[in-house]
Amino acid sequence: MAKIIDGKAIAANLRADIAASVEKIVATGGRAPGLAVVLVGEDPASQVYVRSKGAATREVGMVSLEHKLAATTSEADLLRLIATLNADPAVDGILVQLPLPAHIDAGKVIEAIDPHKDVDGFHPVNVGRLASGAPALAPCTPTGSLLLAQSVQTQLSGLDAVVIGRSNIVGKPMAQLLLRENCTVTVAHSRTRELAAVVRRADLVVAAVGKPEVVRGDWIKPGAIVIDVGINRVAAGEGKTRLVGDVAFAEAKEVAGAITPVPGGVGPMTIACLLRNTLDAYRMRGA
Ligand code: NAD
Repeated sequence: MAKIIDGKAIAANLRADIAASVEKIVATGGRAPGLAVVLVGEDPASQVYVRSKGAATREVGMVSLEHKLAATTSEADLLRLIATLNADPAVDGILVQLPLPAHIDAGKVIEAIDPHKDVDGFHPVNVGRLASGAPALAPCTPTGSLLLAQSVQTQLSGLDAVVIGRSNIVGKPMAQLLLRENCTVTVAHSRTRELAAVVRRADLVVAAVGKPEVVRGDWIKPGAIVIDVGINRVAAGEGKTRLVGDVAFAEAKEVAGAITPVPGGVGPMTIACLLRNTLDAYRMRGA
């Protein structure tokens, strides 16, 4: 029976450490770090994310600057706002909530953010720095996933790691982070043949597929560490729904050495790592 990795508790500890660092900065006369979150439009899920990011930012003593723009905002106006935030010394981190309305080129907007303030780690400069092993602001969800794996085993060096999924947000940066930890990394995806056999080789599995419970218990090597990034809403009868991961948790926990639950695993780590990136961005700017 696997150890259940308590992402909620680990994220709470991380947030408490960040809050202590911010308190120290402010107590010694420093400026509190500032995180600007930009939301374009009224997508309900995005509104929830932005609200919880704002609350978490204030909770650790940082300044939350929220910019809510109409869905009809032009790309040029959004780029102007980014330029203002880039130049604002009180802003250490800039996060543009995705997805953006279809008439705005998300790539162009991400590239307009000052890489030193790119707390999502999506700017090509940070992507390149991460890939070349230089210090970088790395994407929050994979960073949180790595911290959860390291909570079980501090040294991941030499492990066979299989990342399922190759998105720019999770799979690819996850692979880079694990490579940096000296894992032997395989990136599997929708065209991978014999996925079950590939996953069976893994000492560490990171599932970022977006398909409910595709990874079955008999795919897991006994004792492996399993990090489940997936968040999938499925029917639970009587018109109700529930969240499940990309891994069949009930089966996999019988075989794995350690496993993250959904919810309560990777999810809480994402915002905690956003705050950590904001603190890192503040320190890197020498504010
Ligand atoms: P995505 O759709 O961009 O990428 C999914 C990847 O899975 C693709 O690279 C694809 O090749 C691969 N894939 C699809 N079907 C497959 C299959 N049958 N076998 C093997 N590979 C397959 O998704 P994403 O943005 O990377 O997110 C993945 C999951 O993680 C989603 O459930 C998402 O909700 C979740 N997520 C969670 C957090 C969090 O904070 N916990 C953050 C981001 C994403």
